[in-house]
Amino acid sequence: MSYEVFARKYRPQTFDDLVGQPHVSRTLKNAVTQNRLAHAYLFVGPRGIGKTSTARILAKSLNCVNGPTATPCGECHNCREIAAGNSLDVIEIDGASNNSVEDVRQLRENVRYAPAKGRYKIYLIDEVHMLSAAAFNALLKTLEEPPAHVKFIFATTEPQKVLPTILSRCQRFDLHRIPANLIAQHLQFIAGKEKITLEPAAAHAIARGAEGGMRDAESMLDQLVAFCGEKISESDVLNIFGFTAEQTVVDLTGRILRGETPAALELLYEQCESGKDMMRLMSDLIVYLRDLLVFKAKPDVLDEDIDPDLKKSLAAHAELIETDRLLDLIDQLAAAEGRMKWAPNKKLHFEVAIIRAIQSLGQATLDEVIERLSELRDGGRARPPGAPPTKPAAAGSDRGNEGSRRQKAGITDPGYSKAETARVAETAVQSQPNADELWHKVLAKIPVKGFLRTLSESIRPIGIDGRNFLLGHSPDDQSKVEALASPNNRRQLETLLGEASGCDWSVRFVAKEGIVPPKAFGAGSEAARSVEWFEDDRLIQEALEMFNAQIKS
Ligand SMILES: [Zn+2]
Repeated sequence: MSYEVFARKYRPQTFDDLVGQPHVSRTLKNAVTQNRLAHAYLFVGPRGIGKTSTARILAKSLNCVNGPTATPCGECHNCREIAAGNSLDVIEIDGASNNSVEDVRQLRENVRYAPAKGRYKIYLIDEVHMLSAAAFNALLKTLEEPPAHVKFIFATTEPQKVLPTILSRCQRFDLHRIPANLIAQHLQFIAGKEKITLEPAAAHAIARGAEGGMRDAESMLDQLVAFCGEKISESDVLNIFGFTAEQTVVDLTGRILRGETPAALELLYEQCESGKDMMRLMSDLIVYLRDLLVFKAKPDVLDEDIDPDLKKSLAAHAELIETDRLLDLIDQLAAAEGRMKWAPNKKLHFEVAIIRAIQSLGQATLDEVIERLSELRDGGRARPPGAPPTKPAAAGSDRGNEGSRRQKAGITDPGYSKAETARVAETAVQSQPNADELWHKVLAKIPVKGFLRTLSESIRPIGIDGRNFLLGHSPDDQSKVEALASPNNRRQLETLLGEASGCDWSVRFVAKEGIVPPKAFGAGSEAARSVEWFEDDRLIQEALEMFNAQIKS
């Protein structure tokens, strides 16, 4: 017997064989059993997930000599002919190539004749959205008044392109992408039948690569057998298709979340040198972070898609990053992925993305600085270098919402934030007088009336972090500042800061206990007074001591 590809050889023959579409098979089985059949069905979903297979099974159910039955025998001449695709009563039409009015007119002619052998004449139109508008209209005439012996089964990947008048006459079924675990299981089933040894990790790597499409997964297995013979390992799969090992993505994520820039880049270079597809690695990384996001929201949702080892990694990584930081991270990497698409040097963009991601994760520790300064204010001593940070939960609970909100913004990984904290705190403290002078110039230019003035009266400069100009306000003013700090007002402040200093700034608003609004200072020597105020503050004194810093005036 000639060689048959797996996708064909192991095409599902009954509703129970269908993988990953229980909602569809159950409904269709019930419809057939109860003889509640529609005239037209529409199967919707991405390619390679079983639309055509479902259509053929339905056709067999309807025309099997024992039917209509939810369990077609697969042995009668009707079943066999349908499975082989040469039944006279099941007319398969490819919408992509038979999309003219003439084709549809011919179909309408034939619809009138009774089926040759089976119970029904079944028209199976694949890619139905490819029909021309005129062809759709011609088809509609038949759909409006179909003869009792005719059934239509349509399949499409793009339902939005199908005329609404057609859609409304069909019973629609949406087929889903198949969970990776189910694909892996099915591949193992095929491997068993074919006497192939397929490593579980290899099956999983194929399943991930197939992105929910069974046909793609089966084709990959075909290729692997042709290439490797009877024993297929994970590294075979990774090498042949240029996929990245799941472990690599896990490692890379860990290094990014822990802020280990050199180690993360080293891993990237290794992957690049061993010829891995950088786009693929980036998209795997984003998918993993997406999984992490879902895991943080609801850990058991992913059970069908991931193996237990991966779940452990997700649990560990979930501890390292807060949800809003994770969202930012995904945004950043998705933007980088977009840039990489057209870039000749993809590795370069990947590198920059990693460095930027780690840097912006580090920036969050600014909130930690404030947190720690508040800790000092509240009477706690500064942590000596190397000591673990205060537990977020404990810190959050006694300071209410305000505390927990700050905690949320910061990342909770102890390993890498300390050095950053110190660095940022130093910058913030040292540049304070500059910030005040600059702010004084800005205040002079803000109109005496208006929202911007109201806003400026509730905030006070508390420091500079890189290009961020930090404006503090009392937690009591939180909602007021949020309301007034519109993008437009922020831009105005940034423009004024730029004019006063000659460089670009982005303003950040920070809630902080003990902020005295600038109204409390005399109008004349605000800068000098603020330095005085600054020096007198016990909190600042301790910070100066802790970081061995100075106030420059
Ligand atoms: Zn049969």
